[in-house]
Amino acid sequence: MLRISQRHLKILETCPRQFEYTYCDRLTLPINPTQQSKTQLGSDFHLLMHQRELGLPIEPILARSPQLNTWMEAMLQTAPELFQTESHTWRESEHVRTLEIDNYLFTAIYDLLILQPDRADIIDWKTYPRPRFKKDLDLEWQTRLYLYLLAETSEYVPKQIAFTYWFIQSTPQPKSVKISYTLKQHRQTQSDLLALLGKLTNWLDAYQANGEHFPQVSMSTGLCQHCPFAARCDREHLDPPEPIAFTSHDLYHMPMLPI
Ligand code: SF4
Repeated sequence: MLRISQRHLKILETCPRQFEYTYCDRLTLPINPTQQSKTQLGSDFHLLMHQRELGLPIEPILARSPQLNTWMEAMLQTAPELFQTESHTWRESEHVRTLEIDNYLFTAIYDLLILQPDRADIIDWKTYPRPRFKKDLDLEWQTRLYLYLLAETSEYVPKQIAFTYWFIQSTPQPKSVKISYTLKQHRQTQSDLLALLGKLTNWLDAYQANGEHFPQVSMSTGLCQHCPFAARCDREHLDPPEPIAFTSHDLYHMPMLPI
């Protein structure tokens, strides 16, 4: 049984060969110091919100950075309702859900899940700038997988479920993007997931049986120019690429694929 996260789906869809290098060959990428510091701050913010939700001391985390204190205060002022505990609601941070499909175990870790009798809200903290277009978020595998898993593993129908991203560092105050869900989207996600899984199964079988590589993307996509695996793929270019690093959320939530 292979564990699959939204990150796996994203890389697999973007470039199957990159998936092979990252998860099958377990090649790691360098993280530059600036990125590392942002990653740490993002991880600390998630930890802060988790500990706060559990009622554990948060002072040691806040002491690491004044920025964390600013972000948390801004969130408390902007959306106080998010932090109120109602008698008819159930809530949990870092809530884990899994769903088995064929030989794959899909896994989602929700930053905060709030359940009421007639609706379910997925909350996700982002410590990087809000994307320009909401459509980009609609198409993210994190959005699609998290909504799909909740609908499949609960009594809620799609129209009762929503996903809200909170972009903490937006100025002058945090901003949210709420994504609602429909039965049509649910069916589309299921169809896309099964199609992607079918391909993954074939690629994994060929890789494990004969050592065949996963497919590369076409040069015309422009992806190779900024890919840290360009030399490995024999697609080097003149300008050295910036190393691509995982976001804080990815690192914090990244389950490993046991191959
Ligand atoms: S260089 Fe191109 S083909 Fe190779 S892993 Fe990167 S994006 Fe994929």
